[in-house]
Amino acid sequence: MIADERPVLADSLYTATANPSVEAAPLEGRAETEVAVIGAGFTGLSTALHLAERGVAVTVLEAQSPGWGASGRNGGQINPGLKHDPEAVIAKFGAGMGGRMLDLSSAAPDLVLDIVRRHAIDCDAVQPGWIQPAHDAASMRMLEDRARQWAARGVELRLLSQAEVRGLIGSEAYIGGLLDPRGGNLHPLNYALGLADAVRRLGGRVHGRSRVTALDREGAGHLLRTERGELAARRVVVATNAYTDRFLPPLGRTLLPIRSVQVATQPLSDNLRRSILPQRQAVADTRRVMVYYRTDAQGRLLMGGRGAFDDRGNTRLLELLRRTTRELFPQVGEVEWAHAWGGDLALTTDHYTRLCVLGDGIVSATAYNGRGVALATAMGRVLADWATGTEEGALDFPVTAPKTVPFHFLRKPAIQAAIGWSRLRDALPF
Ligand SMILES: Cc1cc2nc3c(=O)[nH]c(=O)nc-3n(C[C@H](O)[C@H](O)[C@H](O)COP(=O)(O)OP(=O)(O)OC[C@H]3O[C@@H](n4cnc5c(N)ncnc54)[C@H](O)[C@@H]3O)c2cc1C
Repeated sequence: MIADERPVLADSLYTATANPSVEAAPLEGRAETEVAVIGAGFTGLSTALHLAERGVAVTVLEAQSPGWGASGRNGGQINPGLKHDPEAVIAKFGAGMGGRMLDLSSAAPDLVLDIVRRHAIDCDAVQPGWIQPAHDAASMRMLEDRARQWAARGVELRLLSQAEVRGLIGSEAYIGGLLDPRGGNLHPLNYALGLADAVRRLGGRVHGRSRVTALDREGAGHLLRTERGELAARRVVVATNAYTDRFLPPLGRTLLPIRSVQVATQPLSDNLRRSILPQRQAVADTRRVMVYYRTDAQGRLLMGGRGAFDDRGNTRLLELLRRTTRELFPQVGEVEWAHAWGGDLALTTDHYTRLCVLGDGIVSATAYNGRGVALATAMGRVLADWATGTEEGALDFPVTAPKTVPFHFLRKPAIQAAIGWSRLRDALPF
């Protein structure tokens, strides 16, 4: 069970199958470091790892335990790219910066796999590709255009016929699809725990149960306060994403937190494993309110989708996921369900990740819009570049000032309404 979580969201497969790891003890008393990182998800831990690899003194402060947030709860899909296709990115950011953002996000899955190999992280990481199946002609045209745009940048994605999708996924629900060979999947909590162990082995410090409650200037640097300790740091990286709390109000108002929930089956029979995702690709379908799914190393089927902000809504949406599984894969029959859980991720209104300067020597990276496994890992390297003095213009991602989402206080009803509308549009034949 996920500690300190609402019961409806807490029964995580990953917590139940987590590797043993060193307990991250709280910060006690006063300590000093070069770079303080707030939050031990992929963003914070990858930043710390890249800094520790460069010999920079780094300390991570996590309110709960490493991987407690979205990083330890997600679909485990190592998806390449940004939410937007290459031409849109270039149109918005120009060939120089846009090109660097595309290269960073395109290579992000390889970076994850490389970190896993170099630090011998036991997290079932595989790279069989990522499938986006199409449910109608319009989404197939969108996938064809996506393949054309990446081909122009030298990345070959494979368009799939209906028969190929049926063979690879084991479902009759789609008319075609796109296989992106850059994608992979892993056990996300074990990846996070392995990152934390790797940081420690390189001399970095990772403290759990150390919620940062205040951040003040101290001399030329900063002082971070937790319940039992104080940390003086020259630079600060804020990596709290959708779990950003009240101690940094302006950052929270730049994000739209949404919830996603997942269910997992017991390991499937050998017969079902041969019929459902036999090559173990991860899948995100192209509906506006999509479902995402994959199988894991033990042959369980994991199915995820949008969550709600209240318990009743989440109970209903978890049941909907089980029904959707039976609709997509009637061959599963009366399958046994084993776990159901959820967590929060962050969106922005334009679906671009934010790298924000929050003050002199304080930076944050947030809002991966559902791509955080690969992209947050890659942003960790960008944040480490920033913390070691790379000029803002030379970073592989644009630095912006924090921009508050208009009418942020209305975000929950607005998101629910938008999801309802998207579901409706998915059901329409145009
Ligand atoms: C159910 C679900 C499914 C998803 N599926 C996928 C997927 O398949 N593929 C993909 O690429 N992305 C997926 N995502 C998104 C992805 O998980 C996130 O983008 C990514 O994990 C964000 O990492 P992070 O380190 O920025 O934030 P988080 O992992 O959320 O970490 C933030 C941490 O900050 C800590 N914190 C908050 N406030 C403080 C404080 N004051 N002091 C100290 N610590 C603090 C929190 O406790 C938390 O541990 C999914 C997300 C969810 C919730």
